[in-house]
Amino acid sequence: MKNPYETEERAAFRETVRRWVADKITPNADAWDEAGDVPWEIHEQAGALGAFGFGVSEKYGGLGFDDCFMRAAFSEEFAKCGATGVPAALGGRGISIGPIEKLASEDIKDLCLKDIVSGTKGSSLAITEPSGGSDVARLKTTAKKDGNHYVINGSKTFITGGMKSDYFVVGARTGDEGLAGISLFFVEADAPGFSRTEIERKMGWWASDTATLYFDDVRVPAENMLGDENLGFIQIMHNFNYERLAMIAGMVGMMKVCLDASIDYAKERETFGRLLIKSQVIRHKIADMSARIDMVEAYLNQICHQANEGEMPVAEICKGKFSASKALEFCASEAMQIWGGAAYLRGNPVERIYREVKVNAIGGGSEEIMRDLAVRQMGL
Ligand SMILES: Cc1cc2nc3c(=O)[nH]c(=O)nc-3n(C[C@H](O)[C@H](O)[C@H](O)COP(=O)(O)OP(=O)(O)OC[C@H]3O[C@@H](n4cnc5c(N)ncnc54)[C@H](O)[C@@H]3O)c2cc1C
Repeated sequence: MKNPYETEERAAFRETVRRWVADKITPNADAWDEAGDVPWEIHEQAGALGAFGFGVSEKYGGLGFDDCFMRAAFSEEFAKCGATGVPAALGGRGISIGPIEKLASEDIKDLCLKDIVSGTKGSSLAITEPSGGSDVARLKTTAKKDGNHYVINGSKTFITGGMKSDYFVVGARTGDEGLAGISLFFVEADAPGFSRTEIERKMGWWASDTATLYFDDVRVPAENMLGDENLGFIQIMHNFNYERLAMIAGMVGMMKVCLDASIDYAKERETFGRLLIKSQVIRHKIADMSARIDMVEAYLNQICHQANEGEMPVAEICKGKFSASKALEFCASEAMQIWGGAAYLRGNPVERIYREVKVNAIGGGSEEIMRDLAVRQMGL
Protein backbone atom coordinates (compact mmCIF):
# COMPACT_ATOMS: atom_id res chain seq x y z
CA MET A 1 0.00 0.00 0.00
CA LYS A 2 1.35 3.43 -0.93
CA ASN A 3 2.56 5.56 1.98
CA PRO A 4 1.78 9.25 1.23
CA TYR A 5 4.57 10.28 3.58
CA GLU A 6 7.30 8.22 1.88
CA THR A 7 10.47 10.11 0.98
CA GLU A 8 13.58 8.99 -0.90
CA GLU A 9 15.52 8.92 2.33
CA ARG A 10 12.95 6.75 4.09
CA ALA A 11 12.66 4.41 1.11
CA ALA A 12 16.45 4.05 1.00
CA PHE A 13 16.62 3.27 4.71
CA ARG A 14 13.88 0.65 4.37
CA GLU A 15 15.68 -0.92 1.42
CA THR A 16 18.95 -1.11 3.37
CA VAL A 17 17.20 -2.85 6.27
CA ARG A 18 15.28 -5.12 3.88
CA ARG A 19 18.51 -6.30 2.25
CA TRP A 20 20.20 -6.84 5.61
CA VAL A 21 17.26 -8.93 6.82
CA ALA A 22 17.12 -10.96 3.60
CA ASP A 23 20.89 -11.62 3.58
CA LYS A 24 21.80 -12.00 7.23
CA ILE A 25 18.67 -12.73 9.24
CA THR A 26 16.01 -14.69 7.36
CA PRO A 27 18.29 -17.56 6.30
CA ASN A 28 19.25 -18.10 9.98
CA ALA A 29 16.06 -17.08 11.75
CA ASP A 30 14.66 -20.55 12.29
CA ALA A 31 17.98 -21.97 13.51
CA TRP A 32 18.46 -19.09 15.96
CA ASP A 33 14.90 -19.49 17.17
CA GLU A 34 15.45 -23.21 17.79
CA ALA A 35 18.82 -22.50 19.45
CA GLY A 36 17.23 -19.82 21.65
CA ASP A 37 19.96 -17.34 20.84
CA VAL A 38 21.05 -14.68 18.37
CA PRO A 39 24.79 -14.14 17.72
CA TRP A 40 25.95 -10.90 19.32
CA GLU A 41 27.30 -9.62 15.99
CA ILE A 42 23.67 -9.15 14.89
CA HIS A 43 23.21 -6.58 17.67
CA GLU A 44 26.25 -4.74 16.35
CA GLN A 45 25.10 -4.95 12.74
CA ALA A 46 21.73 -3.49 13.73
CA GLY A 47 23.61 -0.76 15.62
CA ALA A 48 25.66 0.02 12.52
CA LEU A 49 22.44 0.40 10.51
CA GLY A 50 21.29 3.06 12.97
CA ALA A 51 18.53 0.95 14.53
CA PHE A 52 19.23 2.22 18.05
CA GLY A 53 20.20 5.76 17.11
CA PHE A 54 16.82 7.43 16.64
CA GLY A 55 16.57 10.54 18.77
CA VAL A 56 20.10 10.03 20.07
CA SER A 57 22.75 12.73 19.66
CA GLU A 58 25.62 12.03 17.25
CA LYS A 59 27.95 12.59 20.21
CA TYR A 60 26.80 9.17 21.44
CA GLY A 61 26.83 7.52 18.05
CA GLY A 62 23.16 8.28 17.39
CA LEU A 63 21.61 9.54 14.18
CA GLY A 64 21.13 13.05 15.55
CA PHE A 65 17.49 13.04 14.42
CA ASP A 66 14.31 11.09 15.01
CA ASP A 67 11.85 9.78 12.44
CA CYS A 68 8.99 7.50 13.37
CA PHE A 69 8.62 6.31 9.78
CA MET A 70 12.17 5.01 9.85
CA ARG A 71 11.64 3.46 13.29
CA ALA A 72 8.56 1.72 11.90
CA ALA A 73 10.35 0.65 8.70
CA PHE A 74 13.11 -0.98 10.74
CA SER A 75 10.64 -2.88 12.93
CA GLU A 76 8.48 -3.97 9.99
CA GLU A 77 11.34 -5.18 7.83
CA PHE A 78 13.07 -6.94 10.74
CA ALA A 79 9.84 -8.77 11.63
CA LYS A 80 9.65 -10.10 8.08
CA CYS A 81 12.37 -12.59 9.01
CA GLY A 82 9.36 -14.51 10.35
CA ALA A 83 10.87 -15.33 13.74
CA THR A 84 10.20 -12.34 15.90
CA GLY A 85 12.22 -13.70 18.78
CA VAL A 86 15.16 -12.47 16.73
CA PRO A 87 14.13 -8.79 16.71
CA ALA A 88 12.93 -9.23 20.29
CA ALA A 89 16.42 -10.34 21.31
CA LEU A 90 17.55 -6.82 20.39
CA GLY A 91 14.34 -5.19 21.56
CA GLY A 92 15.25 -4.56 25.19
CA ARG A 93 17.72 -1.98 23.96
CA GLY A 94 15.11 -0.20 21.87
CA ILE A 95 12.80 0.34 24.84
CA SER A 96 15.47 1.45 27.33
CA ILE A 97 17.59 3.84 25.27
CA GLY A 98 14.92 6.58 25.35
CA PRO A 99 14.94 7.11 29.13
CA ILE A 100 18.75 7.02 29.23
CA GLU A 101 19.10 9.52 26.37
CA LYS A 102 16.42 11.86 27.68
CA LEU A 103 16.90 11.63 31.43
CA ALA A 104 20.38 10.41 32.39
CA SER A 105 23.26 12.63 33.53
CA GLU A 106 26.09 13.31 31.12
CA ASP A 107 28.34 11.00 33.21
CA ILE A 108 25.94 8.07 32.76
CA LYS A 109 25.55 8.78 29.06
CA ASP A 110 29.34 8.94 28.68
CA LEU A 111 29.59 5.61 30.46
CA CYS A 112 27.11 3.62 28.43
CA LEU A 113 25.23 5.29 25.61
CA LYS A 114 27.77 4.87 22.82
CA ASP A 115 28.10 1.16 23.58
CA ILE A 116 24.35 0.63 23.75
CA VAL A 117 23.66 2.54 20.53
CA SER A 118 26.41 0.70 18.65
CA GLY A 119 25.01 -2.64 19.83
CA THR A 120 28.22 -3.49 21.69
CA LYS A 121 26.41 -3.66 25.02
CA GLY A 122 22.84 -4.48 25.94
CA SER A 123 20.28 -2.61 27.99
CA SER A 124 16.78 -3.52 29.16
CA LEU A 125 13.71 -1.85 30.57
CA ALA A 126 12.54 -3.34 33.87
CA ILE A 127 9.03 -2.32 34.87
CA THR A 128 6.93 -5.52 35.17
CA GLU A 129 7.00 -7.34 38.52
CA PRO A 130 5.90 -10.81 39.60
CA SER A 131 2.83 -9.18 41.18
CA GLY A 132 1.77 -7.68 37.84
CA GLY A 133 2.59 -5.64 34.78
CA SER A 134 -0.63 -3.94 33.73
CA ASP A 135 -1.03 -1.82 36.82
CA VAL A 136 2.31 0.02 36.72
CA ALA A 137 1.12 2.48 39.36
CA ARG A 138 1.13 -0.32 41.94
CA LEU A 139 4.70 -1.52 41.44
CA LYS A 140 6.31 -2.73 44.66
CA THR A 141 10.09 -2.55 44.13
CA THR A 142 11.40 0.17 46.44
CA ALA A 143 14.29 2.63 46.26
CA LYS A 144 15.02 4.19 49.65
CA LYS A 145 17.28 7.23 49.98
CA ASP A 146 20.38 6.61 52.11
CA GLY A 147 22.72 9.61 52.11
CA ASN A 148 23.75 10.24 48.52
CA HIS A 149 22.61 6.78 47.43
CA TYR A 150 19.36 4.92 46.85
CA VAL A 151 18.97 1.32 48.01
CA ILE A 152 16.81 -0.80 45.71
CA ASN A 153 14.91 -3.89 46.87
CA GLY A 154 12.44 -6.01 44.95
CA SER A 155 12.08 -8.06 41.79
CA LYS A 156 11.23 -7.62 38.11
CA THR A 157 10.11 -10.28 35.67
CA PHE A 158 9.59 -10.87 31.94
CA ILE A 159 12.53 -8.60 31.21
CA THR A 160 13.46 -8.86 27.53
CA GLY A 161 17.19 -9.22 26.95
CA GLY A 162 17.63 -9.23 30.72
CA MET A 163 20.09 -12.13 30.89
CA LYS A 164 22.62 -10.40 28.66
CA SER A 165 22.08 -6.73 29.33
CA ASP A 166 24.80 -4.70 31.00
CA TYR A 167 22.49 -1.86 31.95
CA PHE A 168 18.92 -1.57 33.20
CA VAL A 169 16.32 1.15 33.46
CA VAL A 170 14.36 0.17 36.55
CA GLY A 171 11.07 1.51 37.87
CA ALA A 172 10.98 1.71 41.69
CA ARG A 173 8.87 3.27 44.38
CA THR A 174 10.45 6.32 45.99
CA GLY A 175 7.30 7.89 47.35
CA ASP A 176 3.77 7.15 48.42
CA GLU A 177 1.51 4.51 46.95
CA GLY A 178 0.19 5.12 43.45
CA LEU A 179 1.51 6.63 40.29
CA ALA A 180 2.96 9.74 41.94
CA GLY A 181 5.48 7.74 43.96
CA ILE A 182 7.53 6.08 41.21
CA SER A 183 11.01 6.98 39.91
CA LEU A 184 13.31 5.49 37.29
CA PHE A 185 16.87 4.36 38.00
CA PHE A 186 19.90 3.40 35.96
CA VAL A 187 21.35 0.15 37.36
CA GLU A 188 24.46 -1.69 36.18
CA ALA A 189 24.39 -5.47 35.97
CA ASP A 190 27.53 -5.81 38.10
CA ALA A 191 26.06 -3.86 41.03
CA PRO A 192 26.41 -5.85 44.28
CA GLY A 193 23.05 -7.34 45.29
CA PHE A 194 21.81 -7.63 41.70
CA SER A 195 21.12 -11.12 40.30
CA ARG A 196 19.00 -12.68 37.53
CA THR A 197 17.58 -15.97 36.34
CA GLU A 198 16.34 -16.96 32.90
CA ILE A 199 12.67 -17.67 32.19
CA GLU A 200 12.77 -20.92 30.21
CA ARG A 201 10.27 -22.61 27.90
CA LYS A 202 8.24 -19.68 26.62
CA MET A 203 5.41 -20.06 24.08
CA GLY A 204 7.30 -17.85 21.62
CA TRP A 205 10.18 -15.39 21.29
CA TRP A 206 12.53 -18.35 21.68
CA ALA A 207 15.53 -16.50 20.26
CA SER A 208 15.13 -13.76 22.84
CA ASP A 209 16.25 -14.25 26.43
CA THR A 210 13.75 -13.21 29.10
CA ALA A 211 14.81 -12.70 32.70
CA THR A 212 13.62 -12.33 36.24
CA LEU A 213 15.75 -9.75 38.07
CA TYR A 214 16.39 -9.59 41.81
CA PHE A 215 17.44 -6.47 43.72
CA ASP A 216 18.74 -7.23 47.18
CA ASP A 217 19.95 -3.97 48.78
CA VAL A 218 21.36 -2.73 45.47
CA ARG A 219 22.99 0.65 46.19
CA VAL A 220 23.11 3.14 43.36
CA PRO A 221 24.37 6.75 43.50
CA ALA A 222 21.56 9.33 43.76
CA GLU A 223 22.76 10.57 40.37
CA ASN A 224 21.43 7.30 38.87
CA MET A 225 17.88 8.51 39.24
CA LEU A 226 16.62 9.15 35.71
CA GLY A 227 14.59 12.33 35.60
CA ASP A 228 12.75 13.82 38.55
CA GLU A 229 11.86 12.00 41.72
CA ASN A 230 8.34 10.53 41.73
CA LEU A 231 7.71 11.48 38.08
CA GLY A 232 8.75 8.08 36.73
CA PHE A 233 5.22 6.99 35.85
CA ILE A 234 4.84 9.75 33.25
CA GLN A 235 8.22 8.86 31.79
CA ILE A 236 7.28 5.18 31.62
CA MET A 237 4.05 6.02 29.81
CA HIS A 238 5.85 8.30 27.37
CA ASN A 239 8.37 5.56 26.62
CA PHE A 240 5.58 3.02 26.02
CA ASN A 241 4.43 5.06 23.00
CA TYR A 242 7.61 4.22 21.09
CA GLU A 243 7.54 0.56 22.16
CA ARG A 244 3.94 0.22 21.01
CA LEU A 245 4.62 1.99 17.73
CA ALA A 246 7.46 -0.46 17.03
CA MET A 247 5.22 -3.40 17.93
CA ILE A 248 2.48 -2.23 15.54
CA ALA A 249 5.07 -1.96 12.76
CA GLY A 250 6.45 -5.40 13.59
CA MET A 251 2.94 -6.83 13.39
CA VAL A 252 2.47 -5.26 9.94
CA GLY A 253 5.66 -7.07 8.86
CA MET A 254 4.44 -10.41 10.23
CA MET A 255 1.01 -10.02 8.65
CA LYS A 256 2.60 -9.36 5.27
CA VAL A 257 4.62 -12.56 5.61
CA CYS A 258 1.38 -14.44 6.37
CA LEU A 259 -0.32 -12.93 3.32
CA ASP A 260 2.56 -13.51 0.90
CA ALA A 261 3.10 -17.06 2.15
CA SER A 262 -0.63 -17.77 1.74
CA ILE A 263 -0.74 -16.46 -1.82
CA ASP A 264 2.42 -18.37 -2.81
CA TYR A 265 1.09 -21.61 -1.34
CA ALA A 266 -2.42 -21.23 -2.75
CA LYS A 267 -0.96 -20.69 -6.22
CA GLU A 268 0.85 -24.04 -6.02
CA ARG A 269 -1.34 -26.31 -3.93
CA GLU A 270 -3.97 -28.35 -5.70
CA THR A 271 -7.09 -29.74 -4.02
CA PHE A 272 -10.11 -31.30 -5.68
CA GLY A 273 -8.39 -31.02 -9.05
CA ARG A 274 -7.72 -27.29 -9.04
CA LEU A 275 -5.40 -24.78 -7.46
CA LEU A 276 -6.38 -23.49 -4.02
CA ILE A 277 -6.14 -19.92 -5.29
CA LYS A 278 -9.16 -20.63 -7.52
CA SER A 279 -11.34 -21.41 -4.54
CA GLN A 280 -13.59 -18.52 -3.58
CA VAL A 281 -13.26 -19.34 0.11
CA ILE A 282 -9.49 -18.99 -0.12
CA ARG A 283 -9.73 -15.84 -2.25
CA HIS A 284 -11.97 -14.25 0.39
CA LYS A 285 -9.51 -15.15 3.13
CA ILE A 286 -6.79 -13.40 1.15
CA ALA A 287 -8.99 -10.33 0.60
CA ASP A 288 -9.79 -10.17 4.32
CA MET A 289 -6.13 -10.47 5.29
CA SER A 290 -5.08 -7.83 2.80
CA ALA A 291 -7.78 -5.40 3.95
CA ARG A 292 -6.79 -5.75 7.60
CA ILE A 293 -3.12 -5.20 6.78
CA ASP A 294 -3.91 -2.08 4.72
CA MET A 295 -5.98 -0.60 7.53
CA VAL A 296 -3.34 -1.15 10.21
CA GLU A 297 -0.62 0.13 7.88
CA ALA A 298 -2.55 3.29 6.97
CA TYR A 299 -3.28 3.92 10.64
CA LEU A 300 0.38 3.39 11.51
CA ASN A 301 1.43 5.91 8.86
CA GLN A 302 -0.94 8.46 10.34
CA ILE A 303 0.43 7.77 13.84
CA CYS A 304 4.01 8.19 12.59
CA HIS A 305 3.09 11.44 10.86
CA GLN A 306 1.51 12.90 13.99
CA ALA A 307 4.34 11.72 16.23
CA ASN A 308 6.86 13.35 13.87
CA GLU A 309 4.83 16.57 14.07
CA GLY A 310 5.31 16.52 17.83
CA GLU A 311 1.73 15.50 18.70
CA MET A 312 2.20 12.02 20.13
CA PRO A 313 -1.21 10.43 19.42
CA VAL A 314 -1.53 8.31 22.57
CA ALA A 315 -5.12 7.16 22.00
CA GLU A 316 -4.38 6.20 18.40
CA ILE A 317 -1.27 4.27 19.43
CA CYS A 318 -3.35 2.30 21.95
CA LYS A 319 -6.09 1.66 19.39
CA GLY A 320 -3.48 0.83 16.77
CA LYS A 321 -1.80 -1.72 19.02
CA PHE A 322 -4.90 -3.73 19.89
CA SER A 323 -6.23 -3.46 16.33
CA ALA A 324 -2.89 -4.71 15.03
CA SER A 325 -2.74 -7.67 17.43
CA LYS A 326 -6.31 -8.64 16.52
CA ALA A 327 -5.46 -8.34 12.81
CA LEU A 328 -2.31 -10.39 13.34
CA GLU A 329 -4.30 -13.06 15.16
CA PHE A 330 -6.67 -13.21 12.18
CA CYS A 331 -3.95 -13.24 9.50
CA ALA A 332 -1.82 -15.85 11.29
CA SER A 333 -4.84 -18.08 11.80
CA GLU A 334 -6.05 -17.75 8.19
CA ALA A 335 -2.54 -18.38 6.85
CA MET A 336 -2.39 -21.54 8.97
CA GLN A 337 -5.70 -22.68 7.49
CA ILE A 338 -4.59 -22.01 3.92
CA TRP A 339 -1.40 -23.98 4.46
CA GLY A 340 -3.18 -26.78 6.30
CA GLY A 341 -0.99 -29.46 7.86
CA ALA A 342 2.15 -28.11 6.20
CA ALA A 343 2.08 -25.06 8.48
CA TYR A 344 1.70 -27.24 11.55
CA LEU A 345 5.31 -28.31 11.12
CA ARG A 346 7.96 -26.52 13.15
CA GLY A 347 10.10 -24.06 11.23
CA ASN A 348 7.46 -22.94 8.76
CA PRO A 349 7.30 -19.10 8.99
CA VAL A 350 3.51 -19.23 9.32
CA GLU A 351 3.83 -21.61 12.27
CA ARG A 352 6.44 -19.36 13.87
CA ILE A 353 4.29 -16.26 13.47
CA TYR A 354 1.20 -18.04 14.80
CA ARG A 355 3.02 -18.73 18.07
CA GLU A 356 4.09 -15.04 18.32
CA VAL A 357 0.52 -13.71 18.25
CA LYS A 358 -0.02 -13.75 22.00
CA VAL A 359 3.12 -11.93 23.04
CA ASN A 360 1.97 -9.06 20.85
CA ALA A 361 -1.48 -9.13 22.44
CA ILE A 362 -0.01 -9.10 25.98
CA GLY A 363 3.47 -7.51 26.02
CA GLY A 364 4.00 -3.75 25.98
CA GLY A 365 0.44 -3.24 27.23
CA SER A 366 -2.21 -5.91 26.76
CA GLU A 367 -5.24 -5.60 24.48
CA GLU A 368 -7.47 -5.00 27.51
CA ILE A 369 -5.23 -2.26 28.89
CA MET A 370 -4.87 -0.65 25.45
CA ARG A 371 -8.65 -0.44 25.15
CA ASP A 372 -8.91 0.99 28.65
CA LEU A 373 -6.28 3.66 27.94
CA ALA A 374 -7.87 4.55 24.61
CA VAL A 375 -11.24 5.10 26.24
CA ARG A 376 -9.65 7.19 28.99
CA GLN A 377 -8.02 9.36 26.31
CA MET A 378 -11.56 9.95 25.02
CA GLY A 379 -12.27 11.56 28.39
CA LEU A 380 -14.46 8.68 29.60
C1 LIG B 1 7.82 -12.27 26.26
C2 LIG B 1 7.54 -11.06 27.11
C3 LIG B 1 8.48 -10.05 27.16
C4 LIG B 1 8.27 -8.94 28.01
N1 LIG B 1 9.25 -7.97 28.11
C5 LIG B 1 9.14 -7.02 29.07
C6 LIG B 1 10.20 -6.09 29.32
O1 LIG B 1 11.24 -6.08 28.64
N2 LIG B 1 10.07 -5.20 30.34
C7 LIG B 1 8.95 -5.16 31.13
O2 LIG B 1 8.91 -4.34 32.03
N3 LIG B 1 7.91 -6.01 30.91
C8 LIG B 1 7.97 -6.93 29.91
N4 LIG B 1 6.94 -7.81 29.68
C9 LIG B 1 5.77 -7.77 30.55
C10 LIG B 1 4.49 -7.28 29.89
O3 LIG B 1 4.56 -5.90 29.69
C11 LIG B 1 3.35 -7.73 30.81
O4 LIG B 1 3.22 -9.13 30.68
C12 LIG B 1 2.05 -7.04 30.48
O5 LIG B 1 2.11 -5.68 30.77
C13 LIG B 1 0.88 -7.66 31.27
O6 LIG B 1 1.20 -7.78 32.61
P1 LIG B 1 0.99 -9.20 33.36
O7 LIG B 1 1.51 -10.26 32.49
O8 LIG B 1 1.56 -9.08 34.72
O9 LIG B 1 -0.56 -9.39 33.44
P2 LIG B 1 -1.53 -8.80 34.56
O10 LIG B 1 -1.27 -7.35 34.74
O11 LIG B 1 -1.48 -9.66 35.76
O12 LIG B 1 -2.93 -9.00 33.85
C14 LIG B 1 -3.42 -10.31 33.55
C15 LIG B 1 -4.46 -10.22 32.44
O13 LIG B 1 -5.55 -9.49 32.92
C16 LIG B 1 -5.83 -8.40 32.07
N5 LIG B 1 -6.24 -7.26 32.89
C17 LIG B 1 -5.49 -6.64 33.83
N6 LIG B 1 -6.21 -5.66 34.40
C18 LIG B 1 -7.41 -5.66 33.81
C19 LIG B 1 -8.60 -4.88 33.95
N7 LIG B 1 -8.67 -3.87 34.83
N8 LIG B 1 -9.65 -5.14 33.15
C20 LIG B 1 -9.60 -6.14 32.26
N9 LIG B 1 -8.51 -6.94 32.07
C21 LIG B 1 -7.44 -6.68 32.84
C22 LIG B 1 -4.57 -8.10 31.30
O14 LIG B 1 -4.87 -7.56 30.06
C23 LIG B 1 -3.94 -9.48 31.21
O15 LIG B 1 -4.41 -10.08 30.04
C24 LIG B 1 7.08 -8.87 28.77
C25 LIG B 1 6.12 -9.88 28.66
C26 LIG B 1 6.33 -10.97 27.85
C27 LIG B 1 5.28 -12.03 27.79
